[in-house]
Amino acid sequence: MTDCIFCKILNKEIPSKFVYEDDCCFAINDINPKAKKHILVIPKEHIESLNQITDFELVKNLFIAIRNITKQENITDFKTQINTGKNAGQEVMHLHIHILAN
Ligand code: AMP
Ligand code: ZN
Repeated sequence: MTDCIFCKILNKEIPSKFVYEDDCCFAINDINPKAKKHILVIPKEHIESLNQITDFELVKNLFIAIRNITKQENITDFKTQINTGKNAGQEVMHLHIHILAN
């Protein structure tokens, strides 16, 4: 998607450091962290939100990524958050999962 900030990060049009990457997704530190560690797990495929998921294998792979990332970052206790839709606070219309740990 041309006008999507996360697609631009994936395509290196906007510089950002990946803290994790696999076949299905990548992860970056949130630019405006709301916890000591605030990581965004982002599928490589542009999917607008939870409401647009059709391949639920993706959901499994995102949860595997969360496990890998939290292990890598030595996080045992954390919150996850998925905002779906503008009225629920979704600002970037490319599916992502927040990992928040203090
Ligand atoms: P949401 O409100 O669920 O759509 O969350 C979008 C998140 O993306 C917010 O927490 C922003 O701080 C974060 N964000 C926006 N632009 C960037 C960026 N360039 N790099 C890292 N995080 C970003
Ligand atoms: Zn996108």
